[in-house]
Amino acid sequence: MSEAGRNGPDVPEMIPLGRGIAVQVPDSLVIDVPDTEVYDVVILGAGCSGLSLCLALLERGATGPILLVDSRTEYADDRTWSYWDVEPTRFTHLARARWTTWRVSTATEQVRSSALSTPYVSLAANDFYRYVLGRLAEYPNVRLLMGEDAIGYSEIANGLAVATTRFRVRGAQLVDSRGLRPTQGELDDIARRSTWVPQKFVGLHVVTSRPVFHADECVLMDFDVDQTRGLRFGYVLPVSPVEALVENVYLADVAVTEAEHRAELESYLASRFGLEPGDYEILGDERGFIPMTDHVFNQRPMPRVSKIGTLGGATRPSTGYTFLRIQRSSDETALRLLGNSSERGRTQTSRCSMLDRVFLRFLADHPERAPLVFARMFARVPAESLVRFLSDRSGPIDSVRLILALPKLWFLGSALLVLLRSVADRVPHDRRH
Ligand SMILES: Cc1cc2nc3c(=O)[nH]c(=O)nc-3n(C[C@H](O)[C@H](O)[C@H](O)COP(=O)(O)OP(=O)(O)OC[C@H]3O[C@@H](n4cnc5c(N)ncnc54)[C@H](O)[C@@H]3O)c2cc1C
Repeated sequence: MSEAGRNGPDVPEMIPLGRGIAVQVPDSLVIDVPDTEVYDVVILGAGCSGLSLCLALLERGATGPILLVDSRTEYADDRTWSYWDVEPTRFTHLARARWTTWRVSTATEQVRSSALSTPYVSLAANDFYRYVLGRLAEYPNVRLLMGEDAIGYSEIANGLAVATTRFRVRGAQLVDSRGLRPTQGELDDIARRSTWVPQKFVGLHVVTSRPVFHADECVLMDFDVDQTRGLRFGYVLPVSPVEALVENVYLADVAVTEAEHRAELESYLASRFGLEPGDYEILGDERGFIPMTDHVFNQRPMPRVSKIGTLGGATRPSTGYTFLRIQRSSDETALRLLGNSSERGRTQTSRCSMLDRVFLRFLADHPERAPLVFARMFARVPAESLVRFLSDRSGPIDSVRLILALPKLWFLGSALLVLLRSVADRVPHDRRH
């Protein structure tokens, strides 16, 4: 924010700044070369899941040497994590904003839904990174190697050999959390064998010269935008009347350039809030590509290797939400690595529920009907039930409420397709023609 803008007549003094600023990594945590040849745990990728797992391990008593390897050279403010506050996590106290009311809009209706006890919360990446790196630095047995590409790993006697661009280290256990960055070939393969809907988005973190946002509610999906290229919506997380994250989201396999996303955001800010480019300053931006899929991810490719985070299938297939799932699996994985769980050595795959698969199939096959379906869902399902469903905590009654609210005939075809595919998946390969 320029000084002129910050002190301008219309902008309140107390704008919560700090977004867009990279985090200073504690010196004591970072190493230039590995400090030992053998680690108890080597974690490839020190992003959301790698860092969350590392803290879980330490808090649960890991005292042996742990090495985190990441190719990044800095911790920029590269994303905003939002989810419903349905259970305690190590990070929810960092939330910059929380809303007990959320809105879904279509061209013809606006649906508001509220749940006082389970607000929708939003965390800035730089707050998360600053906090978790600070916590890790309190422990003498963890080290972070940055700017280093992990290349691969292989099994050796009593452990794994791990190769990075410059080094070779050994680990008794290896955790791969390098994020899901599928190649086109892998995507084609996923699309052939499972349902997938690409979620592509760009968000701008803006501060405006006059109050325009309703800070007491967030907009989860505003479908009242041009839908000709594919299913698209606006997502608005207001932190105050003059500050918000505004995202342009596609749930469609369309090639949208960064410039096109930005042009659409510009026109969204103009049409929805009457903002011209001179009326706001961009504090930061973020972008993402999240494949929403019911593809079955192998979380244990080898007995001593665990894949976690998006690489381990942590993303909720029908929504793209991942953060809460990562937090849940961090504790489970930490317990297993520390030998406090019976799962040790078992090969795991992540599966998703039938309802999730049907919903995803429906999104893939009938995107034009999605705005009406979402609006109906938020209008007819009691907020607490819907929040539980969206946060993976729904019980049978919540599922029944959801099914009753949805147009059943529309979903019948998708349900049949999913059922057929499940049956086909169960037929052993050697019995298929
Ligand atoms: C912009 C954005 C916004 C999101 N918002 C939400 C949200 O609101 N709610 C939600 O639930 N989910 C959200 N997600 C989805 C998900 O929560 C995040 O993607 C989350 O960061 C995934 O964690 P991860 O550990 O799998 O991957 P990452 O956090 O991306 O971490 C992967 C790490 O691996 C490193 N790496 C990659 N390759 C190598 C290599 N060869 N060697 C060494 N290191 C490597 C990367 O540098 C990175 O640090 C969002 C995703 C994005 C991209």
